[in-house]
Amino acid sequence: RRAEFVAMRDLPSVTADGQRVELMVNAGLREDAQALDMVGADGIGLFRTEFQFLVSATLPQREKQQRLYKDVLDAAGDRPVIFRTVDIGGDKALPYMQRDDDEHEDNPAMGWRALRLALDRDALMKAQARALLEASAGKVLHVMFPMVSEPWEYEEARALVEHQREWLQGQKKKLPIAVRYGAMLEVPALAEVLDILLPKLDFLSIGTNDLTQFLFAADRAHPKLAERYDWLSIAILRFLDRVVRTCHDYQVPVGVCGEMGGRTLEALALIGLGVRRLSITPASVGPVKAMIRAIDAEELRVLMRELLDAGVIDIRGRLTQWAVERNI
Ligand code: PEP
Ligand code: MG
Repeated sequence: RRAEFVAMRDLPSVTADGQRVELMVNAGLREDAQALDMVGADGIGLFRTEFQFLVSATLPQREKQQRLYKDVLDAAGDRPVIFRTVDIGGDKALPYMQRDDDEHEDNPAMGWRALRLALDRDALMKAQARALLEASAGKVLHVMFPMVSEPWEYEEARALVEHQREWLQGQKKKLPIAVRYGAMLEVPALAEVLDILLPKLDFLSIGTNDLTQFLFAADRAHPKLAERYDWLSIAILRFLDRVVRTCHDYQVPVGVCGEMGGRTLEALALIGLGVRRLSITPASVGPVKAMIRAIDAEELRVLMRELLDAGVIDIRGRLTQWAVERNI
């Protein structure tokens, strides 16, 4: 099948009934950008900027951040790169970052991390915003914020980036031609305030890794729990169904950037829910594209609706059967 996936590289990611599904990749290192051409992806749907911080012995200076972002944008060419601002803290602790004694955390995944930390220590966020803006001079900058729990956090983060943009403008620096702002939906509470949040957003990206751990209250890194809850469980799919439909109502582009989208059957379910942008691990692009090209999206949509409305528990079994019957 390897040769088949290589041949797949230059074929469009379109379903048999003509629906376009954007296939992007998750990345974090300079080298990852090369994968775009290798697998034939539409862009980088999640660039985890904290990787540079995690592999560095000291805090990466702004110029160093900017160089990385520029290299990644150059490698991507015309294709979009969605940069996620640092998701550090919690379990991704930086050895060189001072923490106070009262900062011990019993539940680091639910702790002082990501946007929470970034908004409190805003010097870090300001430097990153400037690095992103300057690296994107003459291009469109896509930036998204991790672990948004309430709309004000998104608004504050966005205002911080906008403030840097205005400052650079005052300095007569060359700026991005546009900045598109997005939020990650990883905290379930955010799903209840989409009517407030979505009008302020350019795009939403669902992070199913963290979202699942919070929906099921099950540590994503716990060996005894890792396989316990199925991504194709009706609870997750009903949750995602509501989020995706709300985004469609507000005409806000929505994608999935968690590992879920890289598994063929899970990707099938997401497309059945109406998701048209997946950001996945590069090795999954070939297999997922092959699946996309073989399916009838409308038929799949009807099936997913039936399964969710009827309260079918074994959705994995039913989707497998559907795919096998159609030789997918
Ligand atoms: C997620 O939580 O689904 C996600 C994409 O972010 P990360 O895996 O980096 O936490
Ligand atoms: Mg996450």
